[in-house]
Amino acid sequence: MKITKIFTFDSSHMLNGHDGKCRNLHGHTYSLEITVSDGLIEAGAKAGMVMDFADLKTLVEQHIIEPFDHAFLYHGANARESQIAALLEGWQMKTLRLPRRTTAENLSVEIYGRLKAAGLPVCSVKLWETPASCAEYSEPP
Ligand SMILES: [Zn+2]
Repeated sequence: MKITKIFTFDSSHMLNGHDGKCRNLHGHTYSLEITVSDGLIEAGAKAGMVMDFADLKTLVEQHIIEPFDHAFLYHGANARESQIAALLEGWQMKTLRLPRRTTAENLSVEIYGRLKAAGLPVCSVKLWETPASCAEYSEPP
């Protein structure tokens, strides 16, 4: 059985070296679909549920929304993005250093890994960068 909950967050980023407009600093209102796969809970207050949607919300807000929302997401190995992050941090502005270039594809992998590490039985992360463009990362078979 699978359940899905949808979240939104706002972040700025850039793709240094991109051959189009995404090389510029810009932002997105991301829509994030988290799908969890597990058996149904058999007894007690949560009987008939894969997971309480309220518990899923708490976990995703703590591990994803809190660090990502209204932050400058940047690739820590990229010199130019790191320079911008250092400038922002000097002004006490929120940044989030990531180990990958901040494409929608890579962000979905990053979010998947963070939720898995937090103990969530996540099976798919779908990240919408615009209402028409998304990347999805699913559990390898
Ligand atoms: Zn973008």
